[in-house]
Amino acid sequence: MGSLDSNNSSPTQTNVPKFNPLDPEEFRTQAHQMVDFIADYYKNIETYPVLSQVEPGYLRTQLPENAPYCPEPFEAIMKDVHNHIVPGMTHWLSPNFFAFFPATVSSAAFIGEMLCNCFNSVGFNWLASPAMTELEMIVMDWLANMLKLPKAFMFSGTGGGVLQSTTSEAILCTLIAARDRKLDNIGVDNIGKLVVYGSDQTHSTYTKACKVAGILPCNIRAVPTCIESDFALSPAVLRGIIEADVAARLVPLFLCATVGTTSTTAVDPLSQLGQLAEEFDIWLHVDAAYGGSACICPEFRRYLDGIERANSLSLSPHKWLLSYLDCCCMWVREPNVLVKALSTNPEYLRNKRSEYDSVVDYKDWQIGTGRKFKSLRLWLVMRSYGVANLQSHIRSDVRMAKMFEGFIRSDSRFEVVVPRRFSLVCFRFNPNKEHEPVYIEFLNKKLLDSVNSTGLVYMTHTIVGGIYMLRFAVGATLTEDRHVISAWKLIKESAEGLLRKSVF
Ligand SMILES: *Cc1c(COP(=O)(O)O)cnc(C)c1O
Repeated sequence: MGSLDSNNSSPTQTNVPKFNPLDPEEFRTQAHQMVDFIADYYKNIETYPVLSQVEPGYLRTQLPENAPYCPEPFEAIMKDVHNHIVPGMTHWLSPNFFAFFPATVSSAAFIGEMLCNCFNSVGFNWLASPAMTELEMIVMDWLANMLKLPKAFMFSGTGGGVLQSTTSEAILCTLIAARDRKLDNIGVDNIGKLVVYGSDQTHSTYTKACKVAGILPCNIRAVPTCIESDFALSPAVLRGIIEADVAARLVPLFLCATVGTTSTTAVDPLSQLGQLAEEFDIWLHVDAAYGGSACICPEFRRYLDGIERANSLSLSPHKWLLSYLDCCCMWVREPNVLVKALSTNPEYLRNKRSEYDSVVDYKDWQIGTGRKFKSLRLWLVMRSYGVANLQSHIRSDVRMAKMFEGFIRSDSRFEVVVPRRFSLVCFRFNPNKEHEPVYIEFLNKKLLDSVNSTGLVYMTHTIVGGIYMLRFAVGATLTEDRHVISAWKLIKESAEGLLRKSVF
């Protein structure tokens, strides 16, 4: 069609430059610039306020109302990133980020993600990219072995694992598998009788998953926990609740136990809960989103004791295993139950491999159909660092948390509220034991605001058992001892400032 190109009669064809969204040379130049930007960002990250100081709606006033009609140069876009985007970022990768749980990263995972984006394969079934499915199966078995999971959770045994995006999806998928198996026995008309269990410390996403799965809100039980048992789920209390449900002709379905609760890293007693689950034919899922990663170290593996009684387990390496978002590992003991609940078989995806060979089609292990080559990240992390370095990464975070805990304990005006297990310290400022609880809460809220408003450190809080406490979560990838030491100094000085200001 050379004659069309040389025909200059159409203004739209001559004015708009030829557009190639994936020009290899343009990609090379811009990607190199972007890598430089990222490396500089990581290098200078301490110069930014950790918690963004912008007001809601700030960005609308700074960017145009409409997308540009004509292309804009890369340099102009990067200038806006610098001027408008970075100031609105809360810097999760800052070494002074101690809020929530850290979202840990690594060069290896970043590079793995680059490779994932490079292929952009949409590996819903085996044939859609055999390497994608097979590497994921291998990586899931590798991590299962690192965690000393029973063979029943591995492809090399009778189970298997899959990469989900988040814990929410992992819980939803296992819940649907459990639900459908139970309904096969008791009939779909009885869905209103299904009851699910957790503690009042179970992550809020569990309730959401239960609602999505059609469990009646009145059948979602949150067992109360207390400070005397470190906010762990009590098997005895749970038994009483289950027995009452059974007596009321309801049908126990699912129990979500947690290894490392979000508020305070409580660990539910898996062995005893597993026995109870077996007795009442309940599907036991273990949510180890954060704490599970520590179990690659022999000294922490005890927190997964009893896992052999569970039906499924989820753990998010995007929290503590250096993998970038999003990456949630989920293992199941009976893949066929999961696949039966989630499989689809449309004509346009049919192929000989899926029909005649016993291949894994991961679309039947998740909610969606399309999926990324996420296992590359974990594969690169495990190979680049080895188990030895991953273990020392966990140990180093725990050591820094212990150091912070030591600072708190060394100052009688502060107290550790619940025992530290992993790398989270829950503490509060309590300078005068005669104060009313409301006043202590007020003081700690003030302390948190005052610390966070400096932009030097970012921490968050929780309320458990009616107690308002501050959470100091160590483990952002770039955090070193000196950051923990400075944070403690800042907390102490801010608290002293509050005392000077307040009237007694
Ligand atoms: C963080 C957390 C979640 C949510 O995890 P995502 O994988 O990020 O969705 C669930 N459960 C626990 C115990 C958590 O700490």
